[in-house]
Amino acid sequence: MKVLWAVAALFFVTGCIGPGVDRSDLVVVIDAGHGGDDSGATAGNRYEKDLVLQITKKLYKEFRSQGFDVYLTRGSDKFLKLGQRTRMADKKEAKVFISIHANAIANKSKFSQVEGVETYFLQKTRDARSQRIAARENASVLQGTDTLSKNVIIDAVLNGPKIIESHKLAIDVQRNMVKNLKSSYSGVKDGGVRPAPFYILVGASRPSILVEVGYITNPKERERLFTSNYQEKIVDGIVTGVGNYMDNRKKEINL
Ligand SMILES: [Zn+2]
Repeated sequence: MKVLWAVAALFFVTGCIGPGVDRSDLVVVIDAGHGGDDSGATAGNRYEKDLVLQITKKLYKEFRSQGFDVYLTRGSDKFLKLGQRTRMADKKEAKVFISIHANAIANKSKFSQVEGVETYFLQKTRDARSQRIAARENASVLQGTDTLSKNVIIDAVLNGPKIIESHKLAIDVQRNMVKNLKSSYSGVKDGGVRPAPFYILVGASRPSILVEVGYITNPKERERLFTSNYQEKIVDGIVTGVGNYMDNRKKEINL
């Protein structure tokens, strides 16, 4: 009988907190940007495509250990067309879609000055800086998508039904990433949550965000980005952020 009580107590505890929670209905699709011939941003012999693959593999493990049902758009070094990335989110009926990228600037004289982690959600913006970053990411994501109609995309951006939810998700993820990074590093720059017209976020008809985990062009940040410690802080921040977002959504629905 004692054993039975012990088992019941263990079940109760694991059912309430941490690993063991049944979150199998919480489907998350993670997209590692670029891949194959598309290296993404490069600096100091480091490639964005490699970094984001390392991070998404860690995300996969962490989401799974927290009980989420998680899928990766790519688990190896290959290029995917735009539609292939977002189609998985629709096919799996994902609750959230997260695309992982690393940032870069063109102006070499500012490499050491521009740094920080940023989270984007889909929206038109007049901010020139956000437009520049979106233009860089969009250029590669549009490779091989000849049939894509820009008008359809622009329309989808303007009428995006998930903008408010994506914004909330972005806030939760950004807050937790920055909190974690600051606990381990000094001088971490919070680049904030920003709207930008990323094509990758258009096709997924669910709350979707794009995380720029840091600047590969900044020597100090590039060094950090490729360490397990930095990647784990980012990963834990994203997983906690998604968990917070989903808990809040559940509360809103049950109100
Ligand atoms: Zn990118």
